[in-house]
Amino acid sequence: MRHEWHQLSHPAVGGPGLQTSRPTVDSAEDAALGLDRWRDLPRQQIPPWSDRAKVAEVCKVLDTVPSVVAPYEVDQLRQRLALVCEGKAFLLQGGDCAETFADNTESHLLANARTLLQMAIVLTYGASLPVVKVARVAGQYTKPRSLPTDARGLPAYRGDMINSLEATPEARVADPQRMIRAYANSAAAMNMLRAYLAGGLADLHAVHDWNKDFVKRSPAGERYEAIAREIDRAIAFIRACGMTDDEALRTVTLYCSHEALALEYDRALTRVSGGRAYGLSGHFLWIGERTRQIDGAHIDFISRIANPIGVKLGPTTTPDEAIELCEKLNPDNIPGRLTLISRMGNHLVRDALPPIVAKVTASGAKVVWQCDPMHGNTHESSNGYKTRHFDRIVDEVLGYFEVHRNLETHPGGLHVELTGEDVTECLGGAQGIEDLDLPGRYETACDPRLNTQQSLELAFLVAEMLRG
Ligand code: PEP
Ligand code: MN
Repeated sequence: MRHEWHQLSHPAVGGPGLQTSRPTVDSAEDAALGLDRWRDLPRQQIPPWSDRAKVAEVCKVLDTVPSVVAPYEVDQLRQRLALVCEGKAFLLQGGDCAETFADNTESHLLANARTLLQMAIVLTYGASLPVVKVARVAGQYTKPRSLPTDARGLPAYRGDMINSLEATPEARVADPQRMIRAYANSAAAMNMLRAYLAGGLADLHAVHDWNKDFVKRSPAGERYEAIAREIDRAIAFIRACGMTDDEALRTVTLYCSHEALALEYDRALTRVSGGRAYGLSGHFLWIGERTRQIDGAHIDFISRIANPIGVKLGPTTTPDEAIELCEKLNPDNIPGRLTLISRMGNHLVRDALPPIVAKVTASGAKVVWQCDPMHGNTHESSNGYKTRHFDRIVDEVLGYFEVHRNLETHPGGLHVELTGEDVTECLGGAQGIEDLDLPGRYETACDPRLNTQQSLELAFLVAEMLRG
């Protein structure tokens, strides 16, 4: 049997799908596909663009630029997610809450990718399943906001694609030109990640060595030593079988994803290929909790592209709403097409999730069930920081596994906000981060992220859960 690393090896450059991409805009075809229907529908979270003419100008540029990803990769991810849907693979998705232009650096991108890969190895072992790896990267530049203004009374920061985090009225004006910079950064980020991944960044042995280093240094390392040692033995076994030189052990495909919020951007980067529309701003696009209205603009737009897509489901979601989303977004019931991302909060997951999973399952709808244990577990610390406690994050994942075990459905994956840096944004974990530690390195542009150690700790804990 081939190891999962083989199955997820980097697609050959010049593969069969490449010539199917046709980057020219054909408006008759686009119209037939209804790609602009969203413009006439009610829309939440509209970026408060200062100048509509400028938006159109920018979109005209984005209409013809080379896409960030290719249609064959998008199809390949959907096929891999079909395996998740069938219980034969696991999905790991993670990265910054909000990417920023300033942090679109080699070191930041590599640290995040490396952390995700480290988690993936542990989960691969824990689940004994291939792990599909999807980063929140190369386009995660927009943020939905609960309020139009921030605590200072300034227009809310909506992500670097729209305005600036800097706390001045001028910096908060929504500037369409930022979409160009977001595109350029996304294309550059993907280019760099593809190059490093093809060059051995994901080498199984090196990534596991980093994990062993974590186990050695973590105050909770002892707890994870057993799993790390087992992985060691598994790798030694692979090596003994003479598979160490295998190209596939050294390379991995990392897909990119972001929330499809600024529809102008994602629409402009949509290309028609083989009669189908592909959102080529990223491999996987999702719709957030605040924009998932069944008759709204976002759901309409995403219903018309061929990508694998996701929808966040918060605790107010009714089972009927979930069914409506399945019918609208995946009418042909294609496995891997639709991921339902529950983000209930640890106190609610055990009550809110079962009726949804039960009803969707009974309807026969094929979905990937993914757990986002971050967004339902945000609170304000005693010293005024937006934070999350590691214990609540772990507890939501536990609850999610319990629900799926009881209903005999596949707990398909995790969706987390993390960074490969030593930030102090989430509380707890083996480092015991407390309220007073938060100001030390609180660097997120939006929501608090797990730091490297907390991310790996979560992976080891989930590996334990997966093994029962
Ligand atoms: C997010 O993923 O950063 C986000 C805003 O999530 P949600 O839509 O679930 O609140
Ligand atoms: Mn977030």
